[in-house]
Amino acid sequence: MGVNREHICKACDGTGMLSDDENWKYSCSVCDGEGVVMPGESTSPSAPLSVDEMNRYLD
Ligand SMILES: [Zn+2]
Repeated sequence: MGVNREHICKACDGTGMLSDDENWKYSCSVCDGEGVVMPGESTSPSAPLSVDEMNRYLD
């Protein structure tokens, strides 16, 4: 299929599916279930380089 391994979604390891602690399977939210992430495609909601303050709020 020509999928570049470098583009494989690290969150789901290319499966497009994730499972939670109770083994419930759900579509990967990082790659939208596609199993791959295109270069430049944001894997974070916004501003990946300025999340420090945000993380504090989230904690
Ligand atoms: Zn994924």
